[in-house]
Order: sequence, then C-alpha cells, then structure tokens
Amino acid sequence: MPFRPQFSWDFLPYEEIEARTLRALKNHIDFLKQNSEYYRDHLADIDSSDITCLNDIHMIPFTEKDVLATEFAKFRVASDENVIETVVTSGSTGIPLLFPLTATDLDRLTYNESLSFYSAGVSARDKAQIMVSMDRLFIAGMAYYRGLTALGANTSRLGVLTPEMQRHYIEMMRPTILVGVPSYLVKLGEHLKQAGLTPADLSVQKIFCIGEPIRTEEMKLTSTAETIERLFGAHVYSTYASTEIASTFCDCLERSGGHSHPELAYVEILDTNGDPVPDGTIGELVITPFGVEGLPLLRYKTGDLTFKIPGECACGRHSMRIGPILSRKSQLLKFKGTTLYPMTITNVLDSMPEVVDYIIELKGREGAPSEEIFIHAAVKPLLVSQIMSKVQAAARVNVPVLVSNPATIKTMRGDTTKKIRLIDNRARS
Ligand SMILES: [Zn+2]
Repeated sequence: MPFRPQFSWDFLPYEEIEARTLRALKNHIDFLKQNSEYYRDHLADIDSSDITCLNDIHMIPFTEKDVLATEFAKFRVASDENVIETVVTSGSTGIPLLFPLTATDLDRLTYNESLSFYSAGVSARDKAQIMVSMDRLFIAGMAYYRGLTALGANTSRLGVLTPEMQRHYIEMMRPTILVGVPSYLVKLGEHLKQAGLTPADLSVQKIFCIGEPIRTEEMKLTSTAETIERLFGAHVYSTYASTEIASTFCDCLERSGGHSHPELAYVEILDTNGDPVPDGTIGELVITPFGVEGLPLLRYKTGDLTFKIPGECACGRHSMRIGPILSRKSQLLKFKGTTLYPMTITNVLDSMPEVVDYIIELKGREGAPSEEIFIHAAVKPLLVSQIMSKVQAAARVNVPVLVSNPATIKTMRGDTTKKIRLIDNRARS
C-alpha cells in the first residue's frame, strides 16, 4: 500500500508540535539513561523531570563528533541479534564508524525519506533513477530507494554509471525523478546535450541533489544548480541528511528550504557559545534524533553551518526549515580580517565555463588570524585577473589565483573520483 504520512506532525499547530517534542525529548533522555553506556555516565546529573520546556535543553551536554569517534562502542545500544544492517560513516578522525541499524531503524529510515519525497510531490506516478552508490555500506542510496519505493514510485537503482550508460537508461526508461550529486549531474547533462538531446526531449521533472548545496546564503540557486536546471529542463530540490543525525531536511514543492521532521528529530542552530541564534542567523546545526534504536544520539553537533528560514512556508507545514549547508564549521575561514565561506569562491568558479578545473588550497596554520588560501585553476593565464575580480566582487577580498593544469589538480585531489573542490593543508597545533 502506498505511503500515507499519517504520523507526520507537519501540519499540527506550533504549540502542539512543541508539546509533543518536549515529551519526545524527555522519553529520549529516559531511554538513553536506561540503555546507553555513554549517556548513562554523561546524563548522571540530569533527570528528564528537570526538563520542563524545550529551552531547558541547554542543561544537556552536547555530543561532539570526536567523542563519538573515540568512544564509539559506548554509544551502541542494540544487541547483535537485533541488528539487521550495518552502514558506514567516516568519523572525524577519518576512521570509518560502523553504525548498527535495527528493523525499527530501517522502518524509521523509510518513513523519514518517504515523508521528504512526499513533501516534494513525489508519488506512485513517478519513475525515479537513483544515481548514487547503492552498496559499499553507504546508507544514502538505500535510504532513497526505500523512501521512493514506499511511495509507490517505480525506482531504478542505477548507481554511479558512466554518462553514456546513464543516457541509455534515461532514453529507455524516461524517468521523471533523478537523485544524484550536482557535479555528476552537470557532467551527465552536458553529455546528453552533446548527444543531441534537448531538455524538451527528456521526461525529467525533479532532480534531488545530494552531497553539495544548491543554494547560496541568499537562497538563490548556485551556478551549478542553474546549469542542472537548464540542461534537464527540470527543477532541482535539495536534500540533506547523514547517518549520525538519522533525519532528512528536504525541499517541499515550494523549494524554500529543507523541512525537518519534528516527530523524528529536535533541531537546534547554535552559536559558538552553544546558545541559540536568531532565525536567519548562521550557526551550527545540532540534532537530537528520536526513536533510533541502534546508535541513538543526543544534541549531536554536526559541524555543519546553516540557518533557520524565518516565517511559515507557503506549503502550510509548520516544521522548521533550514537553508543550505554553507560550510563545515572547520572550513569557515578567517582571511584578511573577514569571514569567508569556501562556497562563495566555488560558486564563482563554477559559473565560469572557461575554468576547466580548479581546487582551493588552504595553507598556513588552522585557526590563525589570516589563513592562507590559494585558488589553483586550470585556465589560460589571461583569465587570472578576471577570476580574481569576480572572486573579489563576491567575497569582498582578494584571493590569489595560481595558473595550473587539469593533471596537477587531479594529483592534488588525490585518489578519488569525487570532485573535491577544497583541500586543507593547514598545520594543526
Ligand atoms: Zn514547505
């Protein structure tokens, strides 16, 4: 039977969502104190009865990424016989963390993604192609597959194929939905164009972009996202999640920010002191996912910077919306007296077709007042001043541009097929 969002809190009055969230939070604290070795120790001084309103959450300590990595075994709750799937995520130390999922966790994952796609108008009438890895212990492809099929959409697990093979399947299957990584989608769209196909020849209506933001701080589409829309003649939708947070933020049909699912997670956006920031102000995303059995977390600091979209969404949902992930907190740069998001630079370079390839390199010492940033760009030397002035206009600061070539940039990127745009060679104290 197709998915019906009967458990969704999206359209409840704000006060009702808040009251239910408070109950869920208190239940979550009780669950962790009873079942989690890590939280039993760290919540010893806190009782759920101490939490009388959502603002009281400040009494609860955060869960830091590095602590999750170093004390990983203590966070696991599910017993071996209850775990039915294991997925991997890279911890802050670079050591892969194996996340256990129970049957309930998988059902929860399905509900989470179904609700996201449902909000974006996906239905049983759609044909979807998933163009991200479906194996190698990654959760994302499986999550999309489960969400789309639960809605009744005819879903094909293509994975990451060559653009030629992808074109073949697009022409044969006529999908209405694509799910993929923006930089790959550009490559695919350009291939389709070179093959003589025009957007009007394609059936694609919606493209769900993962892994990279498709909007700027001003909520305008990035140049990459604009290119995707032009190449496919379709709308792009943002979707963001991670293994740890076990909840998705996805654009609804209004495409004005990623809706949270309040029944699945409590969302905070906090400043560097750990205090809430006003709506529209950038801060760190901190998530408390509810109802996770395998490896539940409390006030997990994602290290991702974003902001809450003020006001109510035109779709009528009362769930919180967030803007794009503007940067990892660790990649927020202090440069010549200003704060700089790497995305400000990548957006400029992505909009210049003359730039064959590029990589931004961070040098110097991490956290030093004036960090060293270089743009290595595969371009003709004549274009350097043009790039510098465009970056200057966007970032209000001069960033040095070094002429490079695709082979050197490929070597700098290392052994990866991902289009890494930034490498961090800063010294750490
Ligand atoms: Zn909405």
